[in-house]
Amino acid sequence: MSTNKNYYDILGVSETADDKEIKKAYRKLAMKYHPDKNPDDKEAEEKFKEINEAYEVLSDSEKRNIYDQYGADAVNGQGGFGGGGSYGGAGFEDIFGDIFGDIFGGGSSRGFGGFGGFGGSTRRGPVRGADIQQSIRIDFKDAAFGKKVSLKVTRNEECEVCNGSGAKPGTSKKTCSECGGSGVITEIRQTPFGNMSSQRTCSKCSGTGEEIEHPCNECGGSGSVRKTKTIEVDIPAGIDDGQIIKLAGQGEYGDKGAPRGDLYIIVKVKPDKKFTREGYDVYIDMPVTFVQAALGDDLQVPTIDGDVKYSIPAGTQTGTVFRLKGKGIQKMNSSSRGDQYVKVEVEVPKKLSDKQKELLREFAGETGEKVQENKKSFGQKIEDFFSK
Ligand SMILES: [Zn+2]
Ligand SMILES: [Zn+2]
Repeated sequence: MSTNKNYYDILGVSETADDKEIKKAYRKLAMKYHPDKNPDDKEAEEKFKEINEAYEVLSDSEKRNIYDQYGADAVNGQGGFGGGGSYGGAGFEDIFGDIFGDIFGGGSSRGFGGFGGFGGSTRRGPVRGADIQQSIRIDFKDAAFGKKVSLKVTRNEECEVCNGSGAKPGTSKKTCSECGGSGVITEIRQTPFGNMSSQRTCSKCSGTGEEIEHPCNECGGSGSVRKTKTIEVDIPAGIDDGQIIKLAGQGEYGDKGAPRGDLYIIVKVKPDKKFTREGYDVYIDMPVTFVQAALGDDLQVPTIDGDVKYSIPAGTQTGTVFRLKGKGIQKMNSSSRGDQYVKVEVEVPKKLSDKQKELLREFAGETGEKVQENKKSFGQKIEDFFSK
């Protein structure tokens, strides 16, 4: 799988294209490069695959979102996301079927048989497993530094008794008696224009062409059983609230021989009491006393790495913001870090001793300030205001 393909270029649409435009562009290209129209043309086949890959991502708002942020590698479960396994050409047939189904006005989306050019066998191949979506909540600092998390996932697994075949051990599947193994039923209808043949998927075997005579006792013939498994997930350092980790091939088990679905993990980051985050930068409010602000001081400023010393100059105003370079969050796909911004909040003392008051009066006298002191506290003033 090549890296960082431009899916928008492949489909020839702009990055702001909406679902309709994407679908339209896809249809046009898929028709042009369809293997049935270009027999034995390797180039067309490659192109067709590429178009499908691009469409699979851009037509899915979640995948498109990941792709826009991190590129094709992320969406294909490679690169920095720690996704195991390879990209399974997921949903290839489904998308294809869906689109052609509505071009030709419904009917069996897999049975193109009635349309000459698209002829050939339409026996249904093994179906890929469904995707799973699950969310996890992690702490602020775990998002900043990354963490290995154990996640319990309940999903379909291959039945161990029949090894996914669905048939009782010792028995085998037989050819479907309804369709004779073709997976489709052909019907000839008489119309004013002559005989028309149409095909539909065989309902007895769901298009597989095979029938299970003696279903497996464990799975009832489905070939899979529900199980809860614990999966180790590598949360990359720098991940933010709402971002998604894709683990390719960790979704539902599909039909035997088909790829598994993918697992999408939506990351929720718990808010922190001290720190807030914007992108890769961290923000904190730092209370200082009136005296510290006026005279300057060495502060112990909390950061995600622990306290660091920072000297504020004499005369620091409330609301002043200073920056601690590189003390923010580890950037994904980069070795650098964001910054931390510290906002100084000067606190006015609520209670003063007589001695402190005396010193402040002296202080005011020194600057020539005339202060009409109010002996009532703030709370009392409010009471007075409402009792009038
Ligand atoms: Zn079984
Ligand atoms: Zn059948």
